[in-house]
Amino acid sequence: MIPDLENLVKLQEIDLKIKEQEDAKEQYPVAVKDFLGQIAQAEDDKSVIAAKLERLSADTEKLNSQIVKLRENLSKSEEKLNTIKTNREYDAVHAEIETQKEMLSTAENKREVLETETVNNRVALEETETECERIKSELQPQIDDLNAKIEAIDSNIAEIVKEKDVVSPNINPYTMRTYDSIRTKSKSGKAVAVVRDSKTCTTCFMVLRPQLFSEIRKGDRFIICENCGSMLVWGGTVPGLVPA
Ligand SMILES: [Zn+2]
Repeated sequence: MIPDLENLVKLQEIDLKIKEQEDAKEQYPVAVKDFLGQIAQAEDDKSVIAAKLERLSADTEKLNSQIVKLRENLSKSEEKLNTIKTNREYDAVHAEIETQKEMLSTAENKREVLETETVNNRVALEETETECERIKSELQPQIDDLNAKIEAIDSNIAEIVKEKDVVSPNINPYTMRTYDSIRTKSKSGKAVAVVRDSKTCTTCFMVLRPQLFSEIRKGDRFIICENCGSMLVWGGTVPGLVPA
């Protein structure tokens, strides 16, 4: 292969490394945001249950003092029975006692419901706490790792650009212009397809016509792929394969 094409392949590798870093610069912060969102969601789930438990505790406390008050009233009414003189009075106090007993029973049932709910929510809180810790211990190291990588990206790119500055001057301007124009239009950032014995364009996998393949195989110039527009460059024999 002529040095020009060899350098072109090197340049492609360098540019792909730069692109990888540039893509990472966009993707890593998105991943960090997603991980932080997952942690925030887990914290939120925890807070929702904790707040519910607080409400339940306040409701139970309120109900407890209501029950104390109802019991006091009931004892007072029952004491009244001893001092009653007429049947009418007796009926009235008796009715009062019945009502108080009903209210007390309703309040006690309600308290039982609250207690069950409190127990269930305590279990749920414990589970959510465990889950939250699990998520944090799983994601936090990944977030730290990504943040460290994000911080290193610019200096990584600067290092790779130095490699590019060594290779680029060794490529003839025509080849360079063609390469740049194809690369900037390519979504993958790939302009060069290195052809080997598989006789296909390694970008679009089109099988190359025998005449085209032997042209490329001479290794003295690049040929544009009719299908995808890549610069087809001979890359030699793949080790282990019998040459065509
Ligand atoms: Zn192609």
